[in-house]
Amino acid sequence: MTTTKMETRNFEADVARLLHMMVHSVYSDRDVFLRELISNAADACEKLRYEAITQPDLLGDDPKPRISIFADPEKKSLTIEDNGIGMNGEEMNEALGTIARSGTRAFMERLEAAKGGEKAELVGQFGVGFYSAFMVADQVEVISRRAGSDEAWRWLSDGKGSYSLGAANIDDAPKRGTRVVLHLMEDALSYTQPYQLEQLVKSHSGHVPVPVSLTDKPD
Ligand code: ADP
Ligand code: MG
Repeated sequence: MTTTKMETRNFEADVARLLHMMVHSVYSDRDVFLRELISNAADACEKLRYEAITQPDLLGDDPKPRISIFADPEKKSLTIEDNGIGMNGEEMNEALGTIARSGTRAFMERLEAAKGGEKAELVGQFGVGFYSAFMVADQVEVISRRAGSDEAWRWLSDGKGSYSLGAANIDDAPKRGTRVVLHLMEDALSYTQPYQLEQLVKSHSGHVPVPVSLTDKPD
């Protein structure tokens, strides 16, 4: 992957704390990461649909929303890609480096106080969001191109306190939208098995209003 300068930044203290808790306490229910990433992809498609009401050009020649999941057992990676609204660098910095959501703080306080099984229940109630990717991945890469932009951005982190952000080569990025690449932990390699993925998508994301496909190759 060719990229120009990547800049390293520290997560907001609350994010670092949330990541630590996520990895160490919600472990028993880590299947939820896929539901969270699919839900973000679907939200991104919905945001695009909404913006396209006033700016139909944003849809270009690719008007139908889609979410693709691609597993590569050899590379030990799992990719979730959408053709939704995408993010520019500033949006990535804000969305993936800070706790922008008010609900997250309340969630963390309750998670700290909760015991055993209550924790998994809380995750179900609140939705743990993007950072749940670090329950199964030791490195997460996000490549995104915002609708209507001719720039792509790349975010990369091991979830341990810092992340890097920089411009990405446009040829390595989705034409529009976001690609999340999870470099899976050794004990999470079962998430590359098509049968397991299919079951998870069916059971946790059946209601998602955007078609989800499990493909052999990224487009
Ligand atoms: P929530 O979905 O509740 O806002 P998340 O932690 O799941 O919280 O995601 C944080 C933010 O990151 C989202 O609000 C969105 O701005 C951004 N984001 C995450 N995934 C995507 C995606 N696939 N496309 C565009 N933006 C995304
Ligand atoms: Mg979300």
